[in-house]
Amino acid sequence: MAERIVPERIVIIGAGQAGAQAVATLRAEGFAGALTMVGDEAYAPYQRPPLSKAYLMGTFERARLFLKPDAFYREAGCELILGTTAKAIDRAARSVLLSDGRKLPYDMLLLATGTRVRRIRCPGAELAGIHYLRSIADVDALQAVFKSGARLAVVGGGYIGLEVAAVAVKHGLEVTVFEALDRVMARAVSKPVSDFFESVHRAAGVKLVPNTAVESFEGHDRVAAVTAGGKTTPADLALVGIGVIPNMDLAQKAGLPCEDGIVVDEFGATADPAIFAAGDCTWHVGREGIALRLESVQNAIDQAKHAALAMIGKPKPYREVPWFWSDQYDLKLQIAGLARPTDTMVMRGDPAARKFAVFHLRDGAVAAVESVNAPAEHLVGRKLIAEGARVAPERLADISIPMKNMA
Ligand SMILES: Cc1cc2nc3c(=O)[nH]c(=O)nc-3n(C[C@H](O)[C@H](O)[C@H](O)COP(=O)(O)OP(=O)(O)OC[C@H]3O[C@@H](n4cnc5c(N)ncnc54)[C@H](O)[C@@H]3O)c2cc1C
Repeated sequence: MAERIVPERIVIIGAGQAGAQAVATLRAEGFAGALTMVGDEAYAPYQRPPLSKAYLMGTFERARLFLKPDAFYREAGCELILGTTAKAIDRAARSVLLSDGRKLPYDMLLLATGTRVRRIRCPGAELAGIHYLRSIADVDALQAVFKSGARLAVVGGGYIGLEVAAVAVKHGLEVTVFEALDRVMARAVSKPVSDFFESVHRAAGVKLVPNTAVESFEGHDRVAAVTAGGKTTPADLALVGIGVIPNMDLAQKAGLPCEDGIVVDEFGATADPAIFAAGDCTWHVGREGIALRLESVQNAIDQAKHAALAMIGKPKPYREVPWFWSDQYDLKLQIAGLARPTDTMVMRGDPAARKFAVFHLRDGAVAAVESVNAPAEHLVGRKLIAEGARVAPERLADISIPMKNMA
């Protein structure tokens, strides 16, 4: 077994959700050495979920986006190097080359580099007026043209596209959503949940166009229309939400194994005992034994906690139940566990009442739950999943039995 490194200098690359959590856990768990976090954005770590929700809506102040106050980093003795990109890792010398030419030595390194948006590749894709949404800077650019009466073409009916559609239609924009697959959020939710959200968006005035991939953007200096399915739809602006790509180039160039993310074990360790990774950028074996990449706040927080613990010699395997949420209109969609198409679905409640849950049973045990405006179903569901609890479908479906009595 490789000799354990006792770190005196820890460097974190990526000042996001996972990076901020790692700082907190390292200090809370007694790491007293030098700590530096490098981030290529201009800001200290902030939450991204409100960007496509309340922050875009204008009901969530910018100051509230930040995960920790500046004083936190000062008091934690964490040097923040912002607006600076880590360019290369020299594993032999244990140092990181920064875009300003500096070399940062480390005993242990945490890669918390997240993801970047997948850019659409089609004629006209470089026109002005075509937006993406990942950062504060992206929202600033979008907000400048997010005006009542404007015609917005959303490319991709996933979480981001639909959250923006919900905010936009409330703002008085005319919204068309193009989705290449046959239903919205197809990779993330079951058909009953897709169907429900489609009906809500349509009722709110969003034009949903499934089974239709965008072929090109038209316009001279800026976008004026979108061509999809052979039909051209006028548009004053477009928002592209077609997924993300893990930021793993640094790891790849340093010779670390990568799949659709930086390969890590259940402790967040890469193939190099001095390098760990956490958050959206990792490819890890989930609690069901299947390797995957998760894009969620829960995963960034929990994986960063586990990686930080392992870095300072307190390893504890990461086995938490994955969970996620999305806010659209007055609806809070919450998902716990990872459903499979072969699971048995059980509906609890009535979508027409805008409060329901879909449980997914695998070999009789609760494997996943999707809930809408049903926090008890989510919270108890998470516990049932963690315990591998078996609950009879008719009990789950019976809303006269409170969730707390399900176990
Ligand atoms: C609009 C939006 C809405 C979302 N909504 C939800 C939601 O409702 N629920 C949910 O669970 N999740 C949501 N997410 C996902 C969630 O925000 C991410 O899963 C989470 O931010 C991942 O944290 P992370 O630390 O892995 O990556 P990030 O928070 O992305 O942080 C990574 C940071 O590293 C920086 N970086 C990358 N490479 C380098 C380098 N070489 N040098 C220096 N810095 C570098 C990046 O620029 C970035 O600042 C949303 C994401 C977005 C964009």
